[in-house]
Amino acid sequence: MPASVLHGPWSRVDLHLHTTASDGSLTPVQLVALARERGLETISVTDHDSTEGVDDALARAQGSGLQVIPGVELNTDAATGELHVLGYYLDHHHAGLQARLARLRAGRLGRGEGMVQRLRRLGLDVSWERVQEIAGIGEGGAVGRPHIARALVEKGYVGSVREAFDRYIGNDGPGYVPREKLEPAEAVQIIRDAGGVPVLAHPADIPDFDTLVPGLVAAGLEGLECYYGLYAREVVARLVGQARAYGLVPTGGSDFHGTDVIPDYHLGGTPVPPEVVEALEGRKGRERPVSDPLQA
Ligand SMILES: [Zn+2]
Ligand SMILES: [Zn+2]
Repeated sequence: MPASVLHGPWSRVDLHLHTTASDGSLTPVQLVALARERGLETISVTDHDSTEGVDDALARAQGSGLQVIPGVELNTDAATGELHVLGYYLDHHHAGLQARLARLRAGRLGRGEGMVQRLRRLGLDVSWERVQEIAGIGEGGAVGRPHIARALVEKGYVGSVREAFDRYIGNDGPGYVPREKLEPAEAVQIIRDAGGVPVLAHPADIPDFDTLVPGLVAAGLEGLECYYGLYAREVVARLVGQARAYGLVPTGGSDFHGTDVIPDYHLGGTPVPPEVVEALEGRKGRERPVSDPLQA
């Protein structure tokens, strides 16, 4: 792991973190070690369509004073593009949740293989076996586009993960295969069914925000990720205002994947007010709102 060139002081709270259980590069154990080294108090492991990293993180953090909130990030498709829904405090051993996550990952696996096939048809010699190795599939990981990008970098077809997205596997790229559809409201329900608190992830650039969010609030959305990655202060302020208007808890996290995957997103690198943790926990098991949140 390269030494951080960044700053500090680190945030005490980071509720959006990826591990090798999806497309992050640190194992859950390494992630917890780094969080402790940086003096964080509360983190959440939020892998894409997987909670496989949660138990290892909980075990490593036990007795250390670091709180680990079980989490997940579900990738969904809205009318205007991909949306991510985070889930916190869920019962990550919930059988229905695990069955659903397994199906989502299976869809993702087929899609990853489809993208490799397209790339091969474009004359690029990347192998599905190598992509799976990079993703650590043997350890319950999920294949994501960053893994395919890393295989392209490894073969020298592109200079960086970003270039792989720009040229081949970005949403309009010649090697892209769209994912199996999951509606955002359905993701909210999946999280609630497992006893979790659903939060809309990185919402700053959602084009139809004001038509989308009321429906999700009615479905049981409880939070909005306002403090995110490198969001500018004025963006954070706007989102906090929107969270308040919709009765949502403003949450936050860095979306750290490992600086070798996304160089600018550092564990603890996004300032998140510590009081969001208690506010979020307070939404556990809350009844769904019955009326229009804007009228309440
Ligand atoms: Zn996301
Ligand atoms: Zn994420």
